[in-house]
Amino acid sequence: MFVAYVPQRGEMGARILDGTKMAAEIRAEVASEVKKLASSGVRPGLAVVLVGHNPASEVYVRGKVKSSEEVGLYSEQHTPAESSTTDELLALIADLNGRNEIDGILVQLPLPAHVDAKKILLAVDPAKDVDGFHPMNVGYLSTQRPGLVPCTPAGVIEILRRSDIAIARQEAVVVGRSDIVGKPVAMLLLNQNATVTICHSKTHDLPGVCRRADILVAAIGRAGMVTRDYVKAGATVIDVGINRVTERKEFDRLFGGNKKREEMFLAKGSTLVGDVHPEVAKVAGALTPVPGGVGPLTIAMLMANTVKAAKMRRGIA
Ligand code: NAP
Repeated sequence: MFVAYVPQRGEMGARILDGTKMAAEIRAEVASEVKKLASSGVRPGLAVVLVGHNPASEVYVRGKVKSSEEVGLYSEQHTPAESSTTDELLALIADLNGRNEIDGILVQLPLPAHVDAKKILLAVDPAKDVDGFHPMNVGYLSTQRPGLVPCTPAGVIEILRRSDIAIARQEAVVVGRSDIVGKPVAMLLLNQNATVTICHSKTHDLPGVCRRADILVAAIGRAGMVTRDYVKAGATVIDVGINRVTERKEFDRLFGGNKKREEMFLAKGSTLVGDVHPEVAKVAGALTPVPGGVGPLTIAMLMANTVKAAKMRRGIA
């Protein structure tokens, strides 16, 4: 259960952007698209490839398959052994590329160390690349052509759109420059006419740069690193980070005084926190919680991407 920061007397308290609710809306929209497509004999299909036994990946894949079934997509799961070679996996991808009933192919990362992951991702047909990681789709995004956009970055934009938060003409600062989150988020914001700054571990005066932001996106992977010193009063803060806190000292730094959260932490021995310190709720105008913010949008956008891929491949508007 998520326990939101509760503003104290006299504090403004950010608007909490409810990703769980928005993800449910998107899934309902996708389900209705799937129904419409069914009337013309099309059932979008998603193939998920999970190599070996990585417990975290198994949880993610279960979520993706369950969600596919809920919205009415056809889905299938491929579970090649941990010992599979690059060539064996390339053969599986080639088979999926060639099957018309498969519209989306998702290769769950990370792949075992002996597998050439770049070669595998490059082998996925860009038209079925529902993760949006293929260089062809990266190119489409940066040249503003129709293509498949990575799910988490697309989810960030959906949250802003569905919350009526303006992007055009705003100062946006993205902390993180990974290929899967930071760079595509920055590109999507730029494409929607924000003035975008991308920060990373070598950025000088990071808090000062972040304080310029009307929209601040944190995709860092460091628990509660973005404190209130990083945030301009009233800014929108999107927290992409997912970090597990297990140490008491760290828990106290982040949630000291939050009794409900402490009870849960003591019972479970850990708690999830984003890259944004909970105290930011005191200064931000709007904030995504963790969990329950960007996370739920990621799977919902995967569903949406599968339907988009099915329509694009068949030339359906
Ligand atoms: P990543 O590949 O590790 O990239 C992290 C980025 O943060 C890098 O660009 C790095 O800079 C920057 N960074 C690290 N320490 C920094 C510091 N002290 N100051 C400034 N910048 C710093 O991580 P990622 O894959 O983008 O993921 C980021 C976070 O999002 C993680 O917590 C991940 O779990 C989460 N995530 C969530 C979802 C979701 O569905 N909600 C999906 C994907 C990822 P350099 O480039 O200079 O090293």
